Amino acid sequence: MLLKRNQKIENEYDVIIIGSGLAGLTAANKLAKNNHKVLLLEAHNKLGGFATWFYRAQKKYIFDVSLHGFPIGMKKTCRKYWNKEIADKIIQLKGVRFVNPEFELDTEFTREDFTQKLIQHFNINEKTVSDFFDYVSSMNFYDGHEMTNKELFAKFFPNRSDVVRFLMEPITYANGSTLEDPAITYGIVFSNFMSKGVYTFSGGTDLMIRMMRDELLKNNVDIKMHSKVEKIVIEEGKTKGIMLDGDFISSQAVLSNSNLLSTIFDMTGEEYFSDEFIQKAKAVRLNSSSCQVYMAIKEGESIPFIGDLVFTSTAKTFNTKELLDKNVTSRTFSVYYPETRPQEEIEKYYIVSSTNAQYEDWASLNEEEYAQEKEKLIEDTLKSLETFIPNIREKLDFIECATPKTVERYTHHKKGSSFGTKFEGLEVSMNLHKQIPGLFHSGSVGIIMSGWLGAANYGVIQANEVESYLYQLEKELGQKKSNDYQSQEQHATI
Ligand SMILES: Cc1cc2nc3c(=O)[nH]c(=O)nc-3n(C[C@H](O)[C@H](O)[C@H](O)COP(=O)(O)OP(=O)(O)OC[C@H]3O[C@@H](n4cnc5c(N)ncnc54)[C@H](O)[C@@H]3O)c2cc1C
Repeated sequence: MLLKRNQKIENEYDVIIIGSGLAGLTAANKLAKNNHKVLLLEAHNKLGGFATWFYRAQKKYIFDVSLHGFPIGMKKTCRKYWNKEIADKIIQLKGVRFVNPEFELDTEFTREDFTQKLIQHFNINEKTVSDFFDYVSSMNFYDGHEMTNKELFAKFFPNRSDVVRFLMEPITYANGSTLEDPAITYGIVFSNFMSKGVYTFSGGTDLMIRMMRDELLKNNVDIKMHSKVEKIVIEEGKTKGIMLDGDFISSQAVLSNSNLLSTIFDMTGEEYFSDEFIQKAKAVRLNSSSCQVYMAIKEGESIPFIGDLVFTSTAKTFNTKELLDKNVTSRTFSVYYPETRPQEEIEKYYIVSSTNAQYEDWASLNEEEYAQEKEKLIEDTLKSLETFIPNIREKLDFIECATPKTVERYTHHKKGSSFGTKFEGLEVSMNLHKQIPGLFHSGSVGIIMSGWLGAANYGVIQANEVESYLYQLEKELGQKKSNDYQSQEQHATI
């Protein structure tokens, strides 16, 4: 049931899910499908978290915020944990393009095509390429985490900045990982993408989230938006429910899809965790943030096909510091052609430029400087885009820019982190319920579990943990009932 804004929540639940990002949504659906009573609470006025969209110019234009591309695995996840209709709308992007001082090329972003490019364009011998692919595709979470991305590339492609750029740049955009991060985070995400290319959702994010909402309601999830959970209630070391607008709502388990650190420090309270755990949680670093420039082409105008994703850079070589620098040298253009939303009557084209960014660079500016820097970002973006579409300024009807401060304001993610936490966040997130029975976390942590596919899959993993906990509680309750019955019987016979 979709609860109204001022409707009181009367029921008790098996599970309360805080937040409706792709992890929270997928966990809610899986648990509800297995007949658990689920309440989904979302602070915002719509579901989806970062999987979101917004309208401009009296709803003439619609922009997708994070629909740039994800691996084929999302199709399987949607078929298994959502429904066939949602899975069937996942389609492959046609072209990924690189333009930088070291090389220019187009790729389908598949293993076959990357292999061919590495051999023919970059002159790497066939065996090295095949050894590299085999090595990264065999990496898994339980391997050692000591090797960094830098070391991984030095092992296979020493002194080949161009090859590193080709292999790493898209993944840096996909999840903010750097050369200093553990190689395992790169290996898993790269192999996911390499299996069959880059995919998108035909119809746009709004359609996908609407279809997911309908599926949740069909499976009897209670959903309430405009509901920012203040507190997770812990009693006698166990999770008992949450506080919302001053009211207590009871549940056996709570799964938070809110930021990991807000879950621990703001909503729960460090006094409920061991000192060792809190130390680990305090050491968790947030991932970087990003800036976007949103552009809509005038109705009736069109632009040529320049690729679906265009990785551009003017930096001489690839380095992650420069990627994050406010003096932007690298940006990715996502181009949305009319096929993105085939349901629209009027054909429309959009371009979204993304650049990785540091929150501090933007938060430290005064109002005037902030406005100036936004203008500069827009102007530099247009100059870069003119190299692909020379008359782009004449074709544009709308342009607007978002910074890490915008991301923070709309998502409540500390420092506008676009991809949750760094790798160490995963261990903390996975062990929450070992500290406080009944308290679980899911959502962008540790690079591997971020992005649309990572977040949705992590929702499934944590929903499984919640279910094990609920069955254990049920068993204990059954045992208790049987003990009580036996002791009553004994009393009766005595
Ligand atoms: C600009 C940008 C571009 C991206 N591009 C891509 C891309 O192309 N491909 C890709 O795969 N990934 C992309 N991502 C990443 C991807 O969108 C995210 O990793 C993923 O959607 C995060 O899902 P999540 O489950 O962690 O939850 P989130 O999306 O973080 O959602 C959490 C939800 O919890 C709610 N919430 C928080 N606190 C509370 C509270 N106390 N009470 C109630 N509700 C609360 C929030 O309002 C939010 O709705 C991009 C991200 C950004 C920012």
